[in-house]
Amino acid sequence: MTTMDRDILIGGDIGGTHMRVALVERHGLILHQSRAATDVQAGVPDVVKRLVRQCLEMMEMAHRMGRRVCAIGLGVAGKLDRRKGAVLFSPNLPPMNGYPLARDLRRALSVPVVLENDADSFGVGESLLGAGRGTPNWIGLTLGTGVGGCIILGGRLWRGDELGFSGEFGHMVVDPQGPLCACGLKGCLEAHASSSALQQGVRAAVACGRLSSGPLHAACSSNALTSELIHHQACLGDELARELFHRVGWTLGLAIAGLFSALGIRHAVIGGGVSNGWDQFIEPLMDSVARHCSMLEPADMVIRRSELGDDAALIGSAHLAWLQVPAAVNGLQSHTE
Ligand SMILES: [Zn+2]
Repeated sequence: MTTMDRDILIGGDIGGTHMRVALVERHGLILHQSRAATDVQAGVPDVVKRLVRQCLEMMEMAHRMGRRVCAIGLGVAGKLDRRKGAVLFSPNLPPMNGYPLARDLRRALSVPVVLENDADSFGVGESLLGAGRGTPNWIGLTLGTGVGGCIILGGRLWRGDELGFSGEFGHMVVDPQGPLCACGLKGCLEAHASSSALQQGVRAAVACGRLSSGPLHAACSSNALTSELIHHQACLGDELARELFHRVGWTLGLAIAGLFSALGIRHAVIGGGVSNGWDQFIEPLMDSVARHCSMLEPADMVIRRSELGDDAALIGSAHLAWLQVPAAVNGLQSHTE
């Protein structure tokens, strides 16, 4: 086995609710993965400790297979300083702000660690093996605790001016009078189309007296609201839940229409946990995107669901780490995308 054949990667995804780590082959096959609660409120050092433990387990597993982890890629929501490996601004993981996450992990594990935006990692994963395969130009949206986004142009991840963010569609304002977003602005897409927004919509209905009984009211009272439950209730015909998912589709359509017009492209891929509510939001989404994009015929717009689900960001972050492994580490002259 050559050095290159021995090399394997760890891809990770640190979300607002869960963090997942996987052992990934260079071509994207996931061999093993584990998941733990992020629980960022317990403090970032605690999160790092659990993350180190998860990575060590993967490294031991690789070792038992005669393999060597040559790099770790971690997808994190928010604006990043990729050179320093630090999170600069993460609306849904505020204790992470300013934390040199990559440095601490590198010190603990003695392996190069690369930080990437989680939605960018999703984009690279779907481009390699999922819904973006063979489509050179597309935008991706991830609907989770927040709303992330990525721009793939010419088959490559668009990084803009390397300011530490790109494709932050979640913080595009779609209604200036809309609800408050975690970033501090009012009416961002994220404040309408994320799982936080769905839950906030139910809480607002309870607060104003519109919702006074039923499963959603009970879940709200016991702090057990989830976007899955809201979707389930929408499928059963609950008016409020259906309205909330309608709002997800309508606001996504507004954002996608603007992006199609701005970029001159016509493909979008939607992922993240809330995309499991596809049946409840795709109709208003297609209606909205058709109404708000005067440049394209509705039949020419292609909106696809993620094919890889939660695996996309793991595959993508591992691949992005591989592309940045120093030549001295992997024995090659250089990698190019
Ligand atoms: Zn925002």
